[in-house]
Amino acid sequence: MQPKTLTIALAGNPNSGKTTIFNAITGTRQKVGNWPGVTVEKKEGVIHKYGYELKIVDLPGTYSLTPFSIEEIVARDFLLEGKPDVVIDIIDASNLERSLYLASQMREIDCRVLFALNMADLARKRGVRIDTDKLSEILEVPVVFTVGNKNEGIDALLKKAIELSESDGVPMRKRQVEYTRDIEAAVSKLQDFIEKKSDGQPVYNSRWTAAKLLENDKIIRGHLLKKMGDAGQKILWTAEDERERLAEILDDDPEIVMTDERYSFIESITQEVMVVSAEKQVDVSRNIDMILTHRFLGFPIFVFFIWAMFQTTFSFGHYPMDWIGAGIKVFSAFLEQSMSDSLFKDLLINGIVAGVGSVVVFLPNILILFFCIAIFEDTGYMARAAFLMDRIMHLIGLHGKSFIPMLMGFGCNVPAIMATRTLESEKDRILTILITPFMSCSARLPVYIILAGAFFGAQAGTVIFAIYLVGILVSILSGRLLRSTLLKGIDAPFVMEMPPYRVPMLKNLIIHMWDRSKMFLKKMGGVILIGSVVVWTLSSFPRNVNYSKDYDAKAAQIEKTYQTQLMIRIDDSGRRQLEKEKADALAEMSLQKKAEQAEKSYMGHIGKFVAPFFAPIGIDWRGSVALLSGFVAKEIVVSTMGVLYAADEETGALKNALRASGMTSLGAFSMMIFVLLYVPCLATVAVIRRETNSFKWMFFNIGYSTAVAWIVSFCVYQGGKWMGMS
Ligand code: GDP
Ligand code: MG
Repeated sequence: MQPKTLTIALAGNPNSGKTTIFNAITGTRQKVGNWPGVTVEKKEGVIHKYGYELKIVDLPGTYSLTPFSIEEIVARDFLLEGKPDVVIDIIDASNLERSLYLASQMREIDCRVLFALNMADLARKRGVRIDTDKLSEILEVPVVFTVGNKNEGIDALLKKAIELSESDGVPMRKRQVEYTRDIEAAVSKLQDFIEKKSDGQPVYNSRWTAAKLLENDKIIRGHLLKKMGDAGQKILWTAEDERERLAEILDDDPEIVMTDERYSFIESITQEVMVVSAEKQVDVSRNIDMILTHRFLGFPIFVFFIWAMFQTTFSFGHYPMDWIGAGIKVFSAFLEQSMSDSLFKDLLINGIVAGVGSVVVFLPNILILFFCIAIFEDTGYMARAAFLMDRIMHLIGLHGKSFIPMLMGFGCNVPAIMATRTLESEKDRILTILITPFMSCSARLPVYIILAGAFFGAQAGTVIFAIYLVGILVSILSGRLLRSTLLKGIDAPFVMEMPPYRVPMLKNLIIHMWDRSKMFLKKMGGVILIGSVVVWTLSSFPRNVNYSKDYDAKAAQIEKTYQTQLMIRIDDSGRRQLEKEKADALAEMSLQKKAEQAEKSYMGHIGKFVAPFFAPIGIDWRGSVALLSGFVAKEIVVSTMGVLYAADEETGALKNALRASGMTSLGAFSMMIFVLLYVPCLATVAVIRRETNSFKWMFFNIGYSTAVAWIVSFCVYQGGKWMGMS
């Protein structure tokens, strides 16, 4: 027998623990985060339990069913159109009043809803006691206490959900919001009209539809028009008349009055069911916030945290990086010995292993960076950062909320751009999308590590930090520029709640870190592999190059000279010394040969062709090629340099080769700036197109960022030279 299928949707306010409960139920590891806006698209998971096939849907957070932002629209559309069998409204029990707004609206649409009073632990700690029996009775909704992150109450919740789905019919509508007489009259009049026009089969619950139309909900209007055609139009006209009439009587927008009344309804419920004990604990979060969001201290502390993050990334990452580097070297030496010379061997060692290897060594750095970002997110600090940045963000005409996507951009621009969906205003979104790529994503980090490591030694961490600051600065200036030209508008006020501070769970941190690092590894397997092969191909062909010197003859010459010297030397240490000298000289010769070969390859031609464009900013043809290939993915910049500077085995070799190539520290800095600012990778460009839904903004972004990159690098390089730096 086929198991019965049930669709259970998880809805609720942002940050109420939906994803945590989703993970607890399905055993998957979706990202949870301690700030609003982590889940921007709905996620689904299927489990088999109690003889049912349960399809669980994790919806983005919403405060109400009156959608303002895309994520709210996603959530509401699913509740209305997806027709879930049961909706679990996840309520933050430590914040009951706010959650009830959505809950009360949920009662108005025809859906079987069940409350999970999550964060029961926090509520208890704060001395909040909730009378669930009463709540359940008042709203006629089953209520279950849960603690999502400790797996408490999850089974009870599922059982209740199944029970509810089996119960016949939607619960009666005994108690729901009652509006003032005039509004009630308009609602029922409109409700009757809707019933009549739809032959008793309204698209959505008729009372709710009526209420929404009086509130002038544009999306519902659109749906009605689409689904009911002419009849829908008639309903809209009637609704319009009623609205106007009401506005006249009430002397206010019906929408505002209705919202007010809903709130007072909720207030009366909370008064009835909630007791806050007198010996309420000192609010730890508030105390921490006294310091961390302090008017003067807050910002320096924030900058310090970010600086510490990069310093940690750089200094701790160093060790595993060396080990991985050594491992790759051994592996490549092993291949060198065990295979006979062929084009394929060359491809394998100098293309694939060198290319992928030169990026894989950065995995530890990236893990550490993501771990730090996960700590910021899970403790709740991220939201404070947004708050602190609010003042600065207003300089651009955005508010602190836009800073969250930007901060996420430090990890990867792709999810960061998707996170702009939390923003209500379309212009704010586009503006944020356009300036987010200036936030230096982790893919750019390897390039900085190489260049800063080669040219700035002990100051590398600080230099990298400076690069990140430049990114922030450029995005602020760009924001200002765009705000006052292409995207004129007023900035919305800052409304974002501060989640309480929580001690992060190691498991969550690791899931977080792993989630993002997986993307990095996936890229490694796909884009970077292909990129490395392309770069290798372009740089190894044509095969028969006219060398300026006969390298093979020179090598034979070296071989011969040392041979004779070795013959007369008999002491062991002297011989060893000579052997080493010989190996070094041969390696040098082969490097020179490779470098000349690369220069005369197709890649070399391309590089030379574009070199004039990059010359004024202190980047040679090899750097130019690396930057071109970086359009695919920024990580490829390093692997391309690895191939072109013929120093692929270990990071140390590439650093030496870079220094030997005549690149100056000023040039290296200029190149880092360019890498920071120029066109984000292919994936980012694609997501910009998707999220702005326009090619125009995508091309604008490509052109704008490249221009900015060039101009800033030019100023840095020429300015530095003029000041006598090198
Ligand atoms: P969502 O935005 O509703 O999906 O919320 P998340 O699932 O991302 O959770 C937000 C934060 O609350 C995370 O840091 C969770 O670890 C934490 N959390 C979830 N449930 C509970 C709970 O019952 N008690 C406590 N103390 N924390 C919880
Ligand atoms: Mg979520």
